[in-house]
Amino acid sequence: MLIPPDHEGYGVMDLMWIVIVSDYVLKLVTVLVKTIITLMPHSIMHYQNRGKYFLVVEMGSQLYRSLAPIQPWLSYLLDGYAGPRKVLGVFLSATYMVCKGPDIVTKMKCFQSAIVKFIHSVNYGSTPSKSQLEDAGGLCPICHDDFLLPTMLSCKHIFCEQCVVTWFDRERTCPMCRTQVADDPAWRDGSTTHFMQLY
Ligand SMILES: [Zn+2]
Ligand SMILES: [Zn+2]
Repeated sequence: MLIPPDHEGYGVMDLMWIVIVSDYVLKLVTVLVKTIITLMPHSIMHYQNRGKYFLVVEMGSQLYRSLAPIQPWLSYLLDGYAGPRKVLGVFLSATYMVCKGPDIVTKMKCFQSAIVKFIHSVNYGSTPSKSQLEDAGGLCPICHDDFLLPTMLSCKHIFCEQCVVTWFDRERTCPMCRTQVADDPAWRDGSTTHFMQLY
């Protein structure tokens, strides 16, 4: 949207302005979407599913933000060199795309794994038996209340399902014994990258 309609070659300062402002707007849109997810009542979106939504939104946003600067950069490189220097413009554009390739591939893989995690519901543990529940004392160590949908982790510690899923949006270890149970919780808590996309 920010590319001037008569883009007869714009300067490098115009290019930086276009790329940085576009990236900032896209980041704000991402935060807005996450805000809407946070505001959703529990009846529409279960709290334990929020982490998955945050992850997909963030990974989709990072992929899109890495694709967005391609058009302004190529317009700049291709239109900026007229006449005999056109060859240089084409060469620089090709170099740009070669440098950009691995970044896009990485972002696509992250987005793909986020989609996979979104589709498959992550199961952190099994349902404990009655005697195991009694041995645990009947109270969840996180919320200090009666167990709601008790879940037993691989380390035999028992928590409410909602308590433990919320915990694993931030941590990857059991809250009691620090056994590693979950994957990397990056971006599941609704945080947004501070990275600024310049190229
Ligand atoms: Zn609990
Ligand atoms: Zn444990």
